Amino acid sequence: MATSTVEDYLKAILLEEQASGSGRVATGRLAQALALQPSTVTAMMKALADGGLVEHERYAGVRLTPSGRKLALHVLRRHRLVELFLVEVLGLDWSEVHDEAERLEHAVSDRLIDRIDEMLGRPAVDPHGDPIPTAELEVAAGAGEPLSELPAGVRARVTRVGDQDSGFLRRVDRLGLSPGARLKVVERDADADTLDLDLGRGRRVALGLRAAAKITVERG
Ligand SMILES: [Zn+2]
Repeated sequence: MATSTVEDYLKAILLEEQASGSGRVATGRLAQALALQPSTVTAMMKALADGGLVEHERYAGVRLTPSGRKLALHVLRRHRLVELFLVEVLGLDWSEVHDEAERLEHAVSDRLIDRIDEMLGRPAVDPHGDPIPTAELEVAAGAGEPLSELPAGVRARVTRVGDQDSGFLRRVDRLGLSPGARLKVVERDADADTLDLDLGRGRRVALGLRAAAKITVERG
């Protein structure tokens, strides 16, 4: 059984890999994501490479091996199912479940996770719209595009919010932009770096492009 530190590293590599869409993750990026010193991360990469969980090349960065990827997907599955369980069953707010799941993802057994999965009806996504790996560790490819890229006049539906910061999530909630929300881009204001959005029923909000870049939508 991998330690929780190892699990955190592997999950972070997987998430960085998914975010960048490339095969290798630079140690510097990983250090940033984990809020650790690059030297600490480099030392850990050597240990993970010795354990056969990553391939580490000095200047190219790091890549998960098949067994490293399997472990990382397991952790991600536990994390996202726990988040959904906390929201759907225990009634916690989606802005507060990420930190709880960060701890519980290392503690719940496979048996419990499979039971939660079954009980929730084998859900495809967590409360943030992030895909949940199946029991066979398959992950649906994320569709959609960043809200920040939408031209004026286009209608879309929010599918995913890609920032787990609780303050950001509460703001998204307040604005009415949680997954499932429908919107239309009224105007792009290049000078103010904002999007003017119509959320229906006369609700209009202005959203900064940086925040909009963290929200994934599907047109239509
Ligand atoms: Zn989370």
